[in-house]
Amino acid sequence: MTDVVTAVTEESLDPGDWEALRRLGHRMVDDLVQFQRTIGDQRVWTPAPPEVRRTWEDALPQDGVGAAAAYDQFRETILPYGIGNLHPRFWGWVTGTGSPGGMLAGLMAGGMNAHAAFGDQVATHIERQVLSWCAGLLGLPADSGGVMVTSGSMANLTGLIVARDHMLPQALEDGVRATPRPAVIYASQQVHSSVDKAAGIIGLGRTAVRKIPVDADYRIRIPELQRAIAADREVGLNPIAVIGTAGTVNTGAIDDLGALAAVARQHGIWFHVDAAFGVGLATSARLGRLIAGIELADSIAFDFHKWFYVPYDAAAVLVRDRGAQRRSFAFNASYLAHLERGIPAGGTAFNELGVDLSRGFRSLKVWMTFKEHGIEKFGRLVEQNVDQAGYLASLVERHPRLELTSPVAINVVTFRYVVDGASAEQLNDLNREILMRLHEGGQVVPSFTVLEGRFVIRIAIVNHRSVRADFDLLVEATVAAGDAITRG
Ligand SMILES: *Cc1c(COP(=O)(O)O)cnc(C)c1O
Repeated sequence: MTDVVTAVTEESLDPGDWEALRRLGHRMVDDLVQFQRTIGDQRVWTPAPPEVRRTWEDALPQDGVGAAAAYDQFRETILPYGIGNLHPRFWGWVTGTGSPGGMLAGLMAGGMNAHAAFGDQVATHIERQVLSWCAGLLGLPADSGGVMVTSGSMANLTGLIVARDHMLPQALEDGVRATPRPAVIYASQQVHSSVDKAAGIIGLGRTAVRKIPVDADYRIRIPELQRAIAADREVGLNPIAVIGTAGTVNTGAIDDLGALAAVARQHGIWFHVDAAFGVGLATSARLGRLIAGIELADSIAFDFHKWFYVPYDAAAVLVRDRGAQRRSFAFNASYLAHLERGIPAGGTAFNELGVDLSRGFRSLKVWMTFKEHGIEKFGRLVEQNVDQAGYLASLVERHPRLELTSPVAINVVTFRYVVDGASAEQLNDLNREILMRLHEGGQVVPSFTVLEGRFVIRIAIVNHRSVRADFDLLVEATVAAGDAITRG
């Protein structure tokens, strides 16, 4: 050993000048508050000009420019070029708006940088609290399992992993190839594609999702489901789960969840509900009955970033049998073992309840949003959105150039511009062109889907900023675009 003291230069990422950082932080908050406050005065979507796009291909910086200069670049080349989903006239796909309070909560979570994997620490306790609030809202026991995840897709996947392992106990160790009969699962033709994705990922294969026909209201036909299960059993397949959708992505249809629960019980199979956005209905006394039967589910997947208006990304899956959930994900790893005291002694080990080990403090923005507003406010906002959908539908029905293309169950409205004597293909081309012009026009953003071969304009209202006049404008803009195209 030497006792020569050498001078070493050691670095950190902390700022040299904390006061400058504080001033920069205040500027950032000011700018973002202004951005959200004035969002409705801006265009909805603004495509980026070429000189901005070029910066998105800049090489990896070797030397830093400093926080202030990096922030200037953010303001110029990033902030203005989202899809516009915070805007009161954005209703595309099922895209959430977030909220100003949720924005600040994101700052808190980033500032704490809590690691919500396990341990006796606030982040796991708060996530547990948020999950039991949700279990209570949906009528599941308070001690149900659950875990927060990034998305409804991940929530469906997580629920179906638990379903597979519960129904096919050999699969976890030996793979689904070790199970004697091929497993199949059931959902309606309107089921979200994330379920097909999940079936592939969990080794059942995408063709294992049996797509059951729907009725005129786009709800799963229960007698057809019964027939499919019987026929599959007959040929040696192994039905393991039925999936109900509370709010389909295409039209907002809600399957008869009580009837599906009865079918699942009768056959001794898992009942999973995809309530990605339909979960919001649970906050309303008036609308909650539409998802009656959800309390009978074995697992429920849902998003916070859709109809709870929480900023991206935030979703959860609840699992009635927490033990089943643990069996799918718990591992004996020496470096993750529990102890009698200290950090590893308490809290909830979320790394044993889902795929992720490292996980952020995603529950904080839900917790702060619920605390700020109270759940009754969400009930009113969800009702407001459903009433707006009814209002839009009435405008469409009254207009001679517009046609409603699916029944309005909750907050999704589909319609198209029609011209007498036009062929099906001409109408599809016309409505596709209208949609693109609407996006480019910057006034309104709907999305689209295809229903029985018809290209339709689709509005999904999970937007707390929309007011009725916004839907008047949507109808005007759509008709104006259609008229302009047909007049040539
Ligand atoms: C949006 C949606 C999903 C997927 O959720 P993500 O959070 O986008 O991954 C699943 N099912 C339905 C019915 C949806 O609307």
